[in-house]
Formats: sequence, structure tokens, C-alpha cells
Amino acid sequence: MKFETKLIHAGQEPDEATGSVNVPVYQTSTFKQDAIGRDRGWEYSRSGNPTRKALEDCAAALEGGKYGFAFASGMAAETAVLNLLEPGDAVIAGEDIYGGTYRLLEKVVKKTGVEALYADLKNPENLKKKLKKNVKLVWLESPANPLLSVCDLAAIAEICKKKKILLAADNTFATPYFQNPLALGADIVVHSSTKYLGGHSDVVGGLVVTSNEELGKRIKFYQNACGAIPGPWDAWLTLRGIKTLAVRMKRHEENAFAIAWFLRERPEALKVFFPGLPEHPGHETAKKQMRGFGGMVSFEIRGGYKAAYEFTRRLRIFSLADSLGGVESLACYPPVQTHASLSEKERLKRGINPGLVRLSVGIENKTDLLEDLKRAFRCHKSQVSGHK
Ligand SMILES: *Cc1c(COP(=O)(O)O)cnc(C)c1O
Repeated sequence: MKFETKLIHAGQEPDEATGSVNVPVYQTSTFKQDAIGRDRGWEYSRSGNPTRKALEDCAAALEGGKYGFAFASGMAAETAVLNLLEPGDAVIAGEDIYGGTYRLLEKVVKKTGVEALYADLKNPENLKKKLKKNVKLVWLESPANPLLSVCDLAAIAEICKKKKILLAADNTFATPYFQNPLALGADIVVHSSTKYLGGHSDVVGGLVVTSNEELGKRIKFYQNACGAIPGPWDAWLTLRGIKTLAVRMKRHEENAFAIAWFLRERPEALKVFFPGLPEHPGHETAKKQMRGFGGMVSFEIRGGYKAAYEFTRRLRIFSLADSLGGVESLACYPPVQTHASLSEKERLKRGINPGLVRLSVGIENKTDLLEDLKRAFRCHKSQVSGHK
């Protein structure tokens, strides 16, 4: 099956009992058993639910993996993966990661006796420098929050394989439509399905996919033991969103390109971050490992916080909101929103400057989106004073 067909059919055969072409919402906590020790494959919905299973099988197929697991949120999915570590182990995470991942490592994972280290994984050599005996997991995000930085997945996977270190990749921004980390050598893929996979800003969820049987067993055990599962409705909504992933991602990318080229010419924008731009430092790597560049564009507005404040206040189609990946366009101010859990020092070190604005470019008509940005720029100082 080709990718677009998998989106609609993988794990989603018509219902055996009724022929329903859509996977039914099995809104039940438990399942009647025929006799003691004789169930029909389902016992209790924390352990397994047919609607959730359809989503899990679909996710595994999309990432080219064998085992898929759905969680109540992206953070719950991340916790499941990080729980593979034992006290005394260490994880090396990329410096450019979602703020919540950093918070999870610093405030939750460290408490369990696991060491959390960071490296600028844009250059794989930096990983080698940080390696030591107790490192058991490398965690990366590519393209990453919020500067759309790119890591060379195959190069990092090779380093990890040699040292028998697991590699987990957060593929939320790229989606399996544009990138498959397992095929590039990662052991585990993680998603916040809240974003592009769900695609309509109406459900929170997370996914883990692996092809490694042992890891699959451990994550399945964790999922049942800790219980951070999505309910059947959330699983169903996510599946419903996934069906249109291919057509949405194409349009997200087309609009993102239009906006990136537009911003690049604007005097108000000091820097534009989009992996599709030839001057983006990760452009060549992105071209090598991705089939497209995604729908996220960040830029630094001239004038810092005040300018960002005025700009986002004037937007009418873009909503100022956390999150990304929905059909509607959103603007976000990372220093106060997605990356508020980093100290100012940590933010500045990572290049998250006071003028940074992140756009999740939706699938509206791009003329309207460009008009919205132009309008929001209208009162910007650089226009009033006319300097470039
Ligand atoms: C949103 C996000 C997460 C967290 O997912 P939730 O579904 O909000 O828990 C993790 N990683 C990335 C890249 C994200 O954008």
C-alpha cells in the first residue's frame, strides 16, 4: 500500500460485525468474556480497545514500524519512552527540543535518578563529545522547536548503533508524510498527535512507534501498567484526522513556502527560519532526509518583545495560541508560550530571542494569510521610520 492509501486503510478495515466503513467508537471500559479464561481478544480498555488499536496499527504502518502505541498526550508518549531508562542511566537530548520535553527531563526524569544531558545535535560530532558509558538513549527532534533546526538522523543513528545507544526521534513537526525516522536508523519514533496527525486542533494525543520487539513489549507493558491511554473518542478523532494528512501537509507546505519567501523580503523580519529556504543551515540535510519541509515558519521581528506583542495583537486570521499543525493558522510567542519552561538564559543560549514569533501555517487561502501578515506589520516602527 502506498502512503496515501495507508492513511485511509491501514488498521482500519471495515467493521466485521456490521460492515461499517469507519472504525466504530468502542465506548466501553470492559468486554464480556465467554467463560473464565476465554475472552474474545479484548478484556479491559486500559489494556486494549479496538478503536485505539486501529489508531495504533495505522500509526505503526505510517512510520514503517511494527508496533504502535497511543497515549493520552505527546508528553505521556515521551514519558513512556524515557521510562525505558534505569536509575544511573543517562539520556542526551538535543538542545533544540520542545520546552515541555526539557521540563520533563529536568523536573521529572532527573528525580528518578536518570541523568539528563544536552548537546547541539545539529552537528553529530557534538554527540560524540558528550558520550559516556551510562548514556543509553539519545533524544532528538528534527525539524525542531522553535527554530526549525535540523539534525542528520542517519549520521546520529550510526553513532548510536556503534555504541548500542537507543535513538528516539520526535517526528511531530515533519510527520510521517515528510520523514520516517525509523528508516533513517532511529529505534523509536514519538509524536504529539495533537498536532498535524490529528490536524484539526480538537484532540490531544501521543504516539510511539518502534520495530524492535523487545522495546515494543516494554512500552506495551508500561502503557498498561501506568495507564495514560487515550479514550476511544480521542483515538477515533485522531484517526479521522489522519485520513487527510497527505492533502493537508501538501497545502501546509505550499503556504509555508509562500510565507517564508514573503517574510524574507520584509524589513520587519530580521531572520526567517524555514528549512525549505536555501540559506537555512539545515536545508541540505532536510533535503536529504525529508520529502518536504513542513508547515512551520519562525521569524525574528525587529524590535523584540514590543514589536512581537503589537504584531501578534494585530493578526486577524492567525490566532495567537499554543500548539500547531491544525488546519487553521496560529501564531505563537515561544519565550512566553512553548518555551516558558526554560530560563531566559537557557532561551537566549538556544537562540530563542525576544523577537521570535513562530507561525503554524494553516491551509487557508495563502492570499488571505499574506494579507493578514501585511496588515499586522502595518504599524511596525520600521515602516514608520522607513529604515530597512
Ligand atoms: C506539542 C509537542 C509535544 C507535546 O505533546 P502534547 O500532545 O502537547 O502533550 C511534544 N513534542 C513536540 C515537538 C510538540 O510540538
